[in-house]
Amino acid sequence: MKKLLVLGAGTGGSLVANILSKKLPRKEWRITVVDKAREHHYQPGYLFIPFRLYGYEGRDSVARHIRRPLGSAVEFVSADVRLIDHAARKVETSAGRLDYDWLVLAMGCRMAPEETEGLGEALGKNAHTFYGLDEAVNFQKPLENFREGKLVVNVADMPVKCPVAPIEFAFLADYFFRKKGIRERIRIEYATPSRVPSRSRWQTAFLASLCGRGAYPSRRTSRFRR
Ligand SMILES: Cc1cc2nc3c(=O)[nH]c(=O)nc-3n(C[C@H](O)[C@H](O)[C@H](O)COP(=O)(O)OP(=O)(O)OC[C@H]3O[C@@H](n4cnc5c(N)ncnc54)[C@H](O)[C@@H]3O)c2cc1C
Repeated sequence: MKKLLVLGAGTGGSLVANILSKKLPRKEWRITVVDKAREHHYQPGYLFIPFRLYGYEGRDSVARHIRRPLGSAVEFVSADVRLIDHAARKVETSAGRLDYDWLVLAMGCRMAPEETEGLGEALGKNAHTFYGLDEAVNFQKPLENFREGKLVVNVADMPVKCPVAPIEFAFLADYFFRKKGIRERIRIEYATPSRVPSRSRWQTAFLASLCGRGAYPSRRTSRFRR
């Protein structure tokens, strides 16, 4: 029996495991997925949580049990991956050693606020992020209480996953404050180290055309998002 080991049960890992479990003969392949988390998150939903938009309000709107997206033909091991010994084709985990014939790495990426001077200390005070579930929920109150001043949407460093999400955030903030009738009291600035907001040229042109026009989510933006 050959062994396929997938490290990470997020979007990438669960998709790879599910697709391959349908393509590879069951009698010949054993597919195992390892993850340390208890929950699988639909991360694009984090974007809407600070604004409590479109039914995204708290944990239940984006989280489900980590095992749930995985098909029944896929084995799951709840463990922290600690070491990959590729020469020996083994992975050390908190639940013991796992060997493999093929390895898929899908452990995602994490935020690193400590790499930006001052950001670590400011987070949760006057700097907030929506790139994590708890952080997105904790952002609700400060946003609700913000009545005037300057909101800077800052991409602190590159790379950033889903580079369009911060831009979407800026437009959602525009919409949010407009609906509350306080938009004219708030200046929204978008700051990024990237030369262009998106790698797609037409997306960049479209976004540039929206900036400064006071655009907010409408049929045009939803067409763009599709
Ligand atoms: C706010 C936001 C908006 C987004 N919007 C979009 C969008 O509109 N469209 C889009 O396509 N993408 C979007 N994305 C990006 C998308 O969510 C990610 O690209 C995707 O989740 C990445 O999948 P992944 O499997 O690589 O990593 P993840 O989904 O992060 O999964 C990684 C998994 O590995 C596990 N893991 C990590 N380290 C270990 C370890 N040592 N041991 C065991 N397990 C471990 C984690 O627990 C996790 O379950 C968005 C992301 C964010 C944050």
